[in-house]
Amino acid sequence: MDVKRRYFDYAATTPMHPEVIKSIQPYFDKVYGNPSSLHIFGQEAQAAITQSRDLIAKYINAKTEEIIFTSGGTEADNFALIGVFEANAKKGNHIITTNIEHHAILETCKFLEKHRGAKITYVPVDKYGLVDLEAVIKAITPQTILISVMHANNEIGTIEPIAGIGKVAKEKGIYFHTDAVQTFGSLDLDVEKLNIDLLSASAHKLYGPKGVGLLYIRKGVRILPFLHGGEQERRRRASTENVPGIVGFGKAVELAIEEKQERHQHVTILRDKLIKGILEKINESELNGHPTKRLPNNVNVTVKYIEGESMLINLDLEGIAASTGSACSSSSLEPSHVIKALGVSPEVAHSSLRFSLGRLNTDEDVDYLLEALPRIVKKLREMSPLYKKK
Ligand code: PLP
Repeated sequence: MDVKRRYFDYAATTPMHPEVIKSIQPYFDKVYGNPSSLHIFGQEAQAAITQSRDLIAKYINAKTEEIIFTSGGTEADNFALIGVFEANAKKGNHIITTNIEHHAILETCKFLEKHRGAKITYVPVDKYGLVDLEAVIKAITPQTILISVMHANNEIGTIEPIAGIGKVAKEKGIYFHTDAVQTFGSLDLDVEKLNIDLLSASAHKLYGPKGVGLLYIRKGVRILPFLHGGEQERRRRASTENVPGIVGFGKAVELAIEEKQERHQHVTILRDKLIKGILEKINESELNGHPTKRLPNNVNVTVKYIEGESMLINLDLEGIAASTGSACSSSSLEPSHVIKALGVSPEVAHSSLRFSLGRLNTDEDVDYLLEALPRIVKKLREMSPLYKKK
């Protein structure tokens, strides 16, 4: 029998909004010019890019020319860290980040440490996943050139105190980068108010297309180009622009602004119902992440004595798509570095599950999940030697 599929993995990616699909369509076969071409075909494509860039810049209170389109969040993170590191080598070689960043940041830091002589300080977080501003301040040395702290964590949903970090960075004359991939389009983002110098975002997390993102670079920030070649993106990122992707990104941001209130309210209600239901129905379950400073669509729980993967497989059989953490590391059997950073035991780290909600989830989806999960947990615990031993 076919089961109805229910998607609870919006933090991994989202389905494109129908309006986004409609907006992109003409750019495959009608407006297909190369934006660098001087003729009308090229001009039309260039105009579409400019329109998207303007709209997106306005959303974060940036200037149009401060937005550089990339192939996604990963490229934006690589660009920010490597570009700033290489352009500021004379000033220093120290970067401060946290131990709960996405792999796009952590692996880039490792690369810089191993191959470019960077010194990286990984600031720890508290049991809610919150970065301590004092720890960031303490880590600053005369060699510090960049602080990179994510806006909100993709696994546990904790929203970080980036306003405070931005303020300190500005006072000390250190660049501040934030990975806003999980918050772009859903939370307020003002690069002036928050003193952000560089910001990464990705369209596919906000009902836009995959394979397109951006790096905001404040005017005056010293950064080397990331891709060398043509003169696109103000010579900072060569390669013919992904015109349909950029148009779709712009439309996705426009819709996110229009529907902000409605989307926020919708997922918050479902999130709170889901958290309450899980904690009530499943004994020895705990919420991971901060109880209030969290993304409106994130539910991350630990269900003791059973592995997250076993729950995922069983949920999948009932049509429920969830995740144990980041989609990028789901093929690894290592427990999540984010849950481990909360100071829990490895067994507990293996027992976490993430449900991330979105605009197409319904109240009935949540009821279905709240019926299926406790039943699955009961079955798995009956088979679990860890549960029997206690
Ligand atoms: N940063 C964060 C916080 C993310 O959640 C993701 C995607 O999961 C990325 C970066 C990578 O973005 P992309 O998939 O566009 O490369």
